[in-house]
Amino acid sequence: MPIRRGADYIESLRERQPTVYYDGKRVENVLEHPAFKIPIQTLARIYDLQWSPEYQDKLTYLKNGQRTNITYMIPRSKEDLRRIREALNIIYDNLLGFFGRCYDYLNMWMAVFAAHAWDFFGDKDPLFADNAISLYEHCSENDLFLTHAIVAPMVDRSKMASQLVDPYIQAGVVEKNNSTVVVRGAAMVSTAAPYAEELIYFPNLLRDPDPRYAIAFVCPTNLDGIKFIARRSFKPRDGYGEFEYPISSRFEESDAFVVFDNVKIPKENFLFLEEVDKVIPMMWGGVYMKAWFNYHFNVQYYSRLKFLTGLATLIAQAVGIDKFVNVQEKLGELLIYLNITRAAIIAAEDAGEKLDNGLYRPNPEIAVSVSHFNMIALPRAFEIIKLLSGGSLVSLPSSRKDLENPEIRQYIDKYLVGAGVPAVERIKLFNLAWDVVCSELGQRYELYDRFSRGDPTVMWSRMQMQFAKQRDECVKLAKTLLDSIPDPE
Ligand SMILES: Cc1cc2nc3c(=O)[nH]c(=O)nc-3n(C[C@H](O)[C@H](O)[C@H](O)COP(=O)(O)OP(=O)(O)OC[C@H]3O[C@@H](n4cnc5c(N)ncnc54)[C@H](O)[C@@H]3O)c2cc1C
Repeated sequence: MPIRRGADYIESLRERQPTVYYDGKRVENVLEHPAFKIPIQTLARIYDLQWSPEYQDKLTYLKNGQRTNITYMIPRSKEDLRRIREALNIIYDNLLGFFGRCYDYLNMWMAVFAAHAWDFFGDKDPLFADNAISLYEHCSENDLFLTHAIVAPMVDRSKMASQLVDPYIQAGVVEKNNSTVVVRGAAMVSTAAPYAEELIYFPNLLRDPDPRYAIAFVCPTNLDGIKFIARRSFKPRDGYGEFEYPISSRFEESDAFVVFDNVKIPKENFLFLEEVDKVIPMMWGGVYMKAWFNYHFNVQYYSRLKFLTGLATLIAQAVGIDKFVNVQEKLGELLIYLNITRAAIIAAEDAGEKLDNGLYRPNPEIAVSVSHFNMIALPRAFEIIKLLSGGSLVSLPSSRKDLENPEIRQYIDKYLVGAGVPAVERIKLFNLAWDVVCSELGQRYELYDRFSRGDPTVMWSRMQMQFAKQRDECVKLAKTLLDSIPDPE
């Protein structure tokens, strides 16, 4: 199958529906369920871009004569990486930097797994090299949509997984034979799971050196025993729509809790199996997924920061505060975040590295540092929008119905205008601001910005360990100066 259209994705999902629970009930058909309509439509729209004459050359490439989704391309040069990134720019400009779990995010992971088939996954057993390649081929040739689950449920973080009341809270191997592995346990969050076709699982941290937890696999989401319990949808409340919730009505992404209820997973689906020494290098060093997904996050955030900077500026102009120096300082702050992120994308490409396996990898120090910086910059951008908006976020009559009632419309048109801005425009603007920073979806995005790459405290504290070489060079510099100062007699 070549690149897909949105309709192809929807048809495929119809045929291979995962087991999803919503509001206490098994979902009969995820395509018909109101909780998943927005993300499925959004995703379908982005698949369609692959067929648009304007974007096709940018969003696809030729692989063995077959037009293929470019986010499945294995980058072998700086130029390749740039081509992929330009495609990501198109996707995330289209999504205004929201909907971070569009198809491209995990397609890139699969390409990286394939590139490391022999030097990492198959270094001890060729089965896993073959698996990394065939799983990649399967996903890329069918242009499949993936979700991922890597974090164990937050039960008691002071204990290792095997010390918990039930040692199968974190997903682990229960038993295995020559062909199949039985996995039991759960994972805390899997964004997009209810409408995904394939699932990537691996543990993000070595929370326990017990080998049963050291597993990585990619399997269909509809495998028997895989169950997704979806959170409440943050689509617009009933009776409201795009006017009141311009972001929730476009960029709601579903998150789900994942249960592996004695799932029988064929060995062909594993990238590694009970190999403890693979867990850390999967993220840091070795496969180094941190370099890849943080690079990707910077691209998402570049688009989002552009949108947030524009929104903040419009708010400041609409209520005549844009000439105040404290407001200009905040707008300048957003532009600084935007350009730091932009610089990081370019720099991570330029300072990337061609690995022995032929893969061209973005520079990890730059990609990770700026993405981790954005764990505070993005929430700060949300804060700036709140600070500039003040009470207008809540005091505006904001529903379309208010405007349609002539009895109150006369007051709205008189009192709710802005600085040269008619009332309707001002209401639309603040509805948008509310949806971005205050609505349930807005709050969810703030959590995503803080936590989706791992907890900021733990991540920031690890930098000096992970970038020890760089740190040691800095220490040497300071030490050289200190050593050059003569000791007192
Ligand atoms: C919107 C959203 C979408 C997400 N989507 C996905 C997804 O699609 N797939 C996926 O796998 N995950 C997803 N995640 C989960 C995300 O990966 C985790 O939230 C993240 O890794 C942080 O882990 P945690 O929430 O378990 O927090 P923890 O790491 O447990 O941290 C929680 C708190 O405890 C403290 N803490 C915990 N451990 C330590 C320690 N050892 N030392 C010191 N302090 C500690 C932290 O500092 C922090 O304050 C998503 C999260 C969000 C919010």
